[in-house]
Amino acid sequence: MTQLLSNFISGRWQNGTGSGVALMDPVLGTELARVDATGLDLPAGFAFAREQGGAALRAMTYAERAALLSAAVKVLQANRDAYYEIATANSGTVKNDSAVDIDGGIFTLGTYAKLGEALGARRFMLDGEAARLGKDPLFQSQHVLTPTRGVALFINAFNFPSWGLWEKAAPALLSGVPVIIKPATATAWLTQRMVKDVVDAGIFPAGALSVVCGSSVGLMDALQPFDVVSFTGSAETAAVIRSHPAVTQHSVRVNIEADSLNSALLLPDAAPGSEAFELLVKEAVREMTVKSGQKCTAIRRILVPEALYGAVAAAMGTRLAKTTVGNPRNEAVRMGALVNREQLASVQQGLAHLKSQTETLFDGSTVPLVDADATVACCVGPTLLGTRNVQGSDSADRVHDTEVFGPVATLLPYRDLAHALALVRRGQGSLVTSLYGSDPAALGAVALELADSHGRVHVISPDVAALNTGHGNVMPQSLHGGPGRAGGGEELGGLRALNFYHRRSAVQASTAVLATLSNTPA
Ligand code: NAP
Repeated sequence: MTQLLSNFISGRWQNGTGSGVALMDPVLGTELARVDATGLDLPAGFAFAREQGGAALRAMTYAERAALLSAAVKVLQANRDAYYEIATANSGTVKNDSAVDIDGGIFTLGTYAKLGEALGARRFMLDGEAARLGKDPLFQSQHVLTPTRGVALFINAFNFPSWGLWEKAAPALLSGVPVIIKPATATAWLTQRMVKDVVDAGIFPAGALSVVCGSSVGLMDALQPFDVVSFTGSAETAAVIRSHPAVTQHSVRVNIEADSLNSALLLPDAAPGSEAFELLVKEAVREMTVKSGQKCTAIRRILVPEALYGAVAAAMGTRLAKTTVGNPRNEAVRMGALVNREQLASVQQGLAHLKSQTETLFDGSTVPLVDADATVACCVGPTLLGTRNVQGSDSADRVHDTEVFGPVATLLPYRDLAHALALVRRGQGSLVTSLYGSDPAALGAVALELADSHGRVHVISPDVAALNTGHGNVMPQSLHGGPGRAGGGEELGGLRALNFYHRRSAVQASTAVLATLSNTPA
């Protein structure tokens, strides 16, 4: 029997009382470890975090908590090799893809450490200026932000066991709110190991950081009114979370990051072979293949002027043909596996669903696997679909509705800019769209047109060809989340992320009282 990964709750490592669920190597098909949360006293664990962890964190200043984040960064950096090994084995990712998760997570934590340092020796934040409430300036209203006296429960998706943990935990801990993380079962090992390393290093006060691996049963039931939940995962599970009594009856604050039909748009004036054309082709292929397309931000719909449909399809096909797929331990392999058999089946099903309304421009099913047994490994080659013509782009409703969480994208020709914008909006709200063109005024105008339906608009002109951070990369300085279909959530965006973990209140008082708030160093 493989090792059972312990849960850390109520300040102690605890094993579940059941036999657990196996975590598998998606390439070799072998069992790696087991997780189990059966029999844990979750209400007691939540109370411990709320009372002990919360009080200890709130007693510190932002700068003091930022120093703890910096210390955690050092511990994580010292253990990077172990994390890469776990990612290869449990996520089936090649080194570059593991880096997006592991180093992306550590980088995000480090960024919040720096942001927190700049907040200095304070324990709350002022929100705007004091406002007069009447003619006499003596009685005013000052909004303040103070950390919520609850826990932050994080329920995460399988595709980012490291980044998904730290992009949420960094702003919560910096705000002074204790964290309970429930990683997706399939890839819980990396999250559990990172939490273990940080806990064993004794960086955070007791109760500040807890991890529950295995079933989600009972987690939402343990929530109380001042707790918050941040969820990342499918729209179906998101609906369960939103309708849970903790949320509907106790007003537990919820942030949802769900699935998204992200798009990339080549502006109408782009010529074949132009820099903008090449940039779109390169990025669309990269987005299809990074982490085998298992990225919530990945480009799923590629919109091009109808005259360029054939040229873009050919250029993408040439690049996709160079993608070697298989065992991530083999240096020749560029794209590893999907995370497990269920995801493989789901991608195959989703592909069949889209194929009924599209043509296949590059067929990943014919790609031979390197160093991997096709009957065991959860590997699949990249597939580019296309809607053939502008009528097809309108009528292929599945392309705008179905997220296939794998190396799959669809090319859609459009008639004119108005048509392109209407097609992008059929995603019903996305995490990100990227624009490719060379005219700054046109790019700026389209960015504003699409901003309301996207958490992020990534605009690529030739001058930033070498500088840009990539369509799918979520940078801690920029907002992550999207309206509508994408879940309606907001994460990151620099210090904006702290809002979720603070309560805003208006203090109505005399100018003299309010002056003590702004002058209070801590
Ligand atoms: P999922 O099946 O919805 O699971 C997400 C998490 O919810 C897992 O930890 C899961 O635990 C847990 N869960 C399942 N049922 C639950 C319940 N009834 N109550 C509470 N928690 C429950 O999603 P996934 O398959 O892991 O992730 C893939 C999806 O996530 C994709 O659709 C992708 O687009 C989306 N995603 C979005 C973002 C974003 O930032 N917007 C990022 C990454 C992924 P178990 O694993 O134990 O079932």
